[in-house]
Amino acid sequence: MRSSIIGYPRIGKQRELKFSIEGYFKGAVFLEKLKEDAWKIRREQWAALADSGLDFIPSNDFSFYDGMLDMAASLNAIPESYKALELDSLNTYFAMARGYQGEKGDVKALPMKKWFNTNYHYIVPAIDDDTQIKLNGEDIFAYYSEALDAGIKTKPVIIGPFTFLKLADYKGKKKLKDFVADTVTAYCEIITRLNELGAEWIQIDEPILVTDLNVADVETFTAIYTELLKHKHDLKVLIQTYFGDVRDCYREIISLPFDGIGLDFVEGSNSLDLVRDNGFSKDTVLFAGIVNGKNIWKNSYLKSLKTLNDLSQYVEKKNIVINTSCSLLHVPYTLKNEKELSESYKARFAFAEEKLTELTELKALFGDENYLSNENYCNNLALFTSKANSTNEEVKGKMTALTEKDFTRQPVFNERAKLHKDFFKLPLLPTTTIGSFPQTAEVKANRAKLKKGEITQAQYEENVKRKIEECIALQEEIGIDVLVHGEFERNDMVEYFGEHLNGYLFTRNAWVQSYGTRCVKPPIIWGDVSRSEPITVEYLKFAQSLTKKPVKGMLTGPVTILNWSFPREDISLKEMAFQIALAIKEEVSDLESNGINIIQIDEAALKEKLPIRRADWHSEYLDWAIPAFRLVHSGVKATTQIHTHMCYSEFVEIVKDIDAMDADVISFEASRSNLTIIDALNKNNFITAVGPGVYDIHSPRVPEVEEIISAINAMLEKLKSDKLWVNPDCGLKTRGVDETIASLKNLVSAAKAVREKLGNK
Ligand code: GLN
Ligand code: ZN
Repeated sequence: MRSSIIGYPRIGKQRELKFSIEGYFKGAVFLEKLKEDAWKIRREQWAALADSGLDFIPSNDFSFYDGMLDMAASLNAIPESYKALELDSLNTYFAMARGYQGEKGDVKALPMKKWFNTNYHYIVPAIDDDTQIKLNGEDIFAYYSEALDAGIKTKPVIIGPFTFLKLADYKGKKKLKDFVADTVTAYCEIITRLNELGAEWIQIDEPILVTDLNVADVETFTAIYTELLKHKHDLKVLIQTYFGDVRDCYREIISLPFDGIGLDFVEGSNSLDLVRDNGFSKDTVLFAGIVNGKNIWKNSYLKSLKTLNDLSQYVEKKNIVINTSCSLLHVPYTLKNEKELSESYKARFAFAEEKLTELTELKALFGDENYLSNENYCNNLALFTSKANSTNEEVKGKMTALTEKDFTRQPVFNERAKLHKDFFKLPLLPTTTIGSFPQTAEVKANRAKLKKGEITQAQYEENVKRKIEECIALQEEIGIDVLVHGEFERNDMVEYFGEHLNGYLFTRNAWVQSYGTRCVKPPIIWGDVSRSEPITVEYLKFAQSLTKKPVKGMLTGPVTILNWSFPREDISLKEMAFQIALAIKEEVSDLESNGINIIQIDEAALKEKLPIRRADWHSEYLDWAIPAFRLVHSGVKATTQIHTHMCYSEFVEIVKDIDAMDADVISFEASRSNLTIIDALNKNNFITAVGPGVYDIHSPRVPEVEEIISAINAMLEKLKSDKLWVNPDCGLKTRGVDETIASLKNLVSAAKAVREKLGNK
């Protein structure tokens, strides 16, 4: 029996690589030191992986920024603007990752996108008509040799040609098919070189195969690999898929001469059926992904062995390698870093390091005919039969009592809109912001001092209130119509609510790479979620007491809270979303009874977990995610106005679902270059009023009044004036104070100017 992993985290157990790279960016760390730090991390990890008993140890899963970007650089997909900077290869690479502004020029970073259905972001390769795809760079070979020198034979890992070409952005007239031949040649060279170096296996990642593919896609895939596999000589080629099943091309995969095929049996709902119904090529090794690479709960050996035993009916046992479902990049390093977490919790979790132990134990159990009496098996079984202390009868009761009414707001939108007109008496094109105001050093210091015990809770709250006073006064002075309190009490929009809800657990060091050097620390949903006391009411009530204008209450929605947490595995996502919704609903109701008449429920991450396959969009996600949002606000008074916010505008394909959230107003990002969303809103008779951001808050640039006026006018060409709000495109917390004030002043002047033109002052 053998075991393998697809990839390992690389940022360092204590985020050493992050700090080293950031130090290098700031000029505080020399290149030599950065390279040495990186080498140390690689070497220590290889040694640890070898010690764990793993049979296939990955190399080239390391990256200074991102694996897709590594592949782009290795294939010479480096746009001319970066080459023209004439930097060395690492700095050219960093320029693509984060832009370059200095004596050699001024170039923006390549865009970033979410890596399938994870919270990891990859850099989108840009391919121009004159891009010459060819092997460029030695990293893959250097890492292989480096590990070999340390006495460890590795399995180099690369992103596959088909996934690479499908995810790249073609800037000119040429399209994917025009680059296939050169790409195949480059990959052939990689294979040949690794073969010469004596590598036994190469893992080629093709996660794109789990997405919806059409006939032409499958043909391209087949053509690429038919050619590529002619050149493999003695090297064994493993095609690795993850994040789902390969239903559109399983037959093609098994008829190609791969030496290994990696399938995901955790997220791949059809994987087992595919093997059963179509068989599996004899002599080919099945890398069976059964240890979840995305979540942090212990593996159920009962379930995994059942899958493995089922598989062994179709694949010879000796040809089954026990694998993770995807790279362990998506989970934190180790539970050993969680000194403050009690053993009763830790007993149920497995981070990357603990998953290695699971692989080793599963390997032994799979090879043991009498595993049912094996101690590891029995302990694991006991864990899953004993209940975690996580149920809350009251929550359960509320959940079973839910009826259709709880998901339906009354009266309907148009009637509410009429009432709101008289109730709020807002001008045409009302102005507002998305919630947060700059998190200045002072604001952060206040939180830090409380944490260190340097100030009391009462002092802390007083300080927050002083900031709220300033913020309200500022917005009054600028002339904004719907005010916010500024969110000075929040570190993060999910963590803040998690900390105030029962059923949540927090870690100290459980960082997961989100992009480049940025890491996130998702909280863990441990048990049934409930709210025991008001969370935001005190500050909101205070803010509203300072002004006659409406202050908008600011909450994070259930789907976003869920999507940015590690979810439970013993109940469904739907159940968790509804529990969180019920907790936030109580907050809505308390805000309302304390005089807050406008409430924004942010769903910044709603689209993130939209299933990879279109056929699953509704049945597996939207059919409960949208109701979860409605559950939060269905009980409010007719006069209460509900807002929501999303950090993106790419929801053209789910416009109807967004409308079905039944909010009164939605704000979202809308850069001027991309007003296609507004056409989609029109075409679908979108009912909800909209606030497409009139300027980009991700840059320190202050937008001119004229610029904002033309943005508003462009929107008015397609939207009715009584449906349009004027606001920035996201929260202002990352911005400086001066630029924020200047930008908002211009925003208000612009709204006023357009209003006057429309004859409404
Ligand atoms: N209300 C939040 C803020 O303004 C929204 C943040 C977000 O959309 N990511 O910061
Ligand atoms: Zn946003």
